[in-house]
Amino acid sequence: MTIRTRCMLALLAMLGPVLAHAQAPSTMNSLAERYVRLVLALGQHDADYVDAYYGPPEWRKQAESARRPVSAIVTDAAALAKDLAAAAPPSSAEEIVRLRHEYLTHQVSALRTRASMLTGTKLSFDEESRALYDAVAPTHTEAEFRAVIDQLEKRLRGHGPLSQRFEAFRQGYVIPRARLDAAFNAAIDGCRSRTMQHVTLPAGESFRVEYVTGKSWSGYNWYQGNYHSLIQVNTDLPIYVDRAVDLACHEGYPGHHVYNVLLEKNLVRDRGWIEFTVYPLFSPQSLIAEGTANYGIEVAFPREERLKFERDVVFPAAGLDPRGAAEYYEVLALVDKLSYAGNEAARRYLNGQIDARAAASWLETYGLFSAPRAVQRVKFIDQYRSYVINYNLGKDMIARYIEGHGGTAANPDRRWELFAQLISSPRLPSGLK
Ligand SMILES: [Zn+2]
Repeated sequence: MTIRTRCMLALLAMLGPVLAHAQAPSTMNSLAERYVRLVLALGQHDADYVDAYYGPPEWRKQAESARRPVSAIVTDAAALAKDLAAAAPPSSAEEIVRLRHEYLTHQVSALRTRASMLTGTKLSFDEESRALYDAVAPTHTEAEFRAVIDQLEKRLRGHGPLSQRFEAFRQGYVIPRARLDAAFNAAIDGCRSRTMQHVTLPAGESFRVEYVTGKSWSGYNWYQGNYHSLIQVNTDLPIYVDRAVDLACHEGYPGHHVYNVLLEKNLVRDRGWIEFTVYPLFSPQSLIAEGTANYGIEVAFPREERLKFERDVVFPAAGLDPRGAAEYYEVLALVDKLSYAGNEAARRYLNGQIDARAAASWLETYGLFSAPRAVQRVKFIDQYRSYVINYNLGKDMIARYIEGHGGTAANPDRRWELFAQLISSPRLPSGLK
């Protein structure tokens, strides 16, 4: 080694920190750390808030022992928002760098809203969904649902309210408790193998399934980090055969499990973006998570393929007669057109226009919920509020974005490509243009 080389090395060592500072990532990384710590702090006051965390364990311990008051969190979040605004990248920056900054800005804004709700701020349903999820669901009148209900009236003839006739029709499609695990595993295998044909997942990704009771939701993915998920399936109410593929895709492949695995691989491990080690439930991230999880069912199983898979694999695994599959899915496709009735019930209920009983009755009449399922749904609305829009509006927004960029059903490779890109990037609902 010559002297000259040694001098160059010394110069580089001196310049190192200067270069790093000029490159903004260190600024963004420290803003990201402040965000993660604020999410963990708010989680001390809101048991549902931190959906997943796999960052430094000592940060969580510190949040627990400090248990900072909400007012202090609000003050810090305002300061963080200001510092983030000052750190905006130039419009010439790489797209993913701009998306990172926009993402963090909106996530912090949602955190401030959630914190203010915990201290008594009252928002209308639409104000709340815009502030938390960066989206507002369209409104619908009873008359709009009526046309679909009329079609179903002709299809499910008989006496009594339509929701009860639909419930009676569905009784033939309940997965017996003893067959649940077999049916669910068969569905997971199908969802996973279809996903793996199009999306590269890191080695060692895995999940575990648990059956639970006493929940307001029907299934939940708890991401543990290190490419591992715990998927819980709620058995409080009968589980219909369509739920096997729906849950396996939504919670697993290519839904929540894959979404979290790809964020960990691409953003946390490859780029060192610590903000993705925490997932605050009441934030714009949830519209992307729920929307892609629901749209992912169709991506993995286009209509005809789904029917074939149900007949050949799921119905036999569930011990059901596969000859009933086609009719079942025709009726379900009609009922699915009533999904926005759930948003209407939630909007009216949370805006104080109707009470819990009326909301349940609305769900039965316009959403065809059975009586116990309507009660469970109102509990869900009590717990998660305007979060309900993330499922159907989220799915529709994701579908418009992917199909609008050429990822139509006729072009499945492009559809998978766009889907995988979307769940590997920090794109926001308002960025789905
Ligand atoms: Zn979900």
